[in-house]
Amino acid sequence: MRDIVIAGNWKMNKDLAEVRSFCKAISGSFTGKKLGKVLPIIAPTYPFLSAAWRELEGSPVKLAAQDVSSHTSGAFTGEVSALMLASLGVPYCIVGHSERRQYHNESDALIKEKILQLIDAGIKPIICVGETLEQREVGHTTKIVIDQLDGCLHGINIYSPKDIMIAYEPVWAIGTGRNATGEQAQEVHRLIRNWLTSQYNKVLSDEISILYGGSVKPENLAELLVMQDIDGGLIGGASLDAASYLKMIEISMNVSKR
Ligand code: PEP
Repeated sequence: MRDIVIAGNWKMNKDLAEVRSFCKAISGSFTGKKLGKVLPIIAPTYPFLSAAWRELEGSPVKLAAQDVSSHTSGAFTGEVSALMLASLGVPYCIVGHSERRQYHNESDALIKEKILQLIDAGIKPIICVGETLEQREVGHTTKIVIDQLDGCLHGINIYSPKDIMIAYEPVWAIGTGRNATGEQAQEVHRLIRNWLTSQYNKVLSDEISILYGGSVKPENLAELLVMQDIDGGLIGGASLDAASYLKMIEISMNVSKR
């Protein structure tokens, strides 16, 4: 059974007080609740990972970093290594987000280096792929997504389906209020799962969570989650508000497809 993941990507939002108050607001909400296969994750900025961790102690909410260095250690000013994140007990890390690809010129080869660093440090990467609007409009979605998967993962061994997650994030849907329909997203998620089967095997690919990202909110989450290969969301804007985040967890708990 695949995890249904509600992962909040906070990007460069929230100061220390805001991180604390969000975490305080949600940490008590899970007492006595059965989350089942629902896995809540939040990804604050680096400086506040420890504060979030302290507030969330004892709750089922896990932490993710938003990025990691492709280097192990040394003279790389401003970078944060996978081992540093591991020493904080951070279990997940987003890599290859389209904002990093776009604003920091990250290539698939660089993202692959980051994935290797994370796997070596025992941190599970949430690997983002997705096409731009121009690429979709000229019919290149399949090629772009497969090329990104190949570039990021080819030759990397995965031993457990819990070792990685993939997030399909069509660039045209991120922060635009324009989400892919359930059917549009499902088509690409199926493609990704088929690629995972060809790269690894069916037993593994059947159990890897593939998240959708792009203007997910409480109002459209259920329509996405009923799709066979959509196993949760990587959510920006709608994850910044505690009530909205909790609502999305509640919606996920009520999805009865599995
Ligand atoms: C994201 O941050 O990955 C994202 C999908 O953002 P939003 O939900 O705001 O579109």
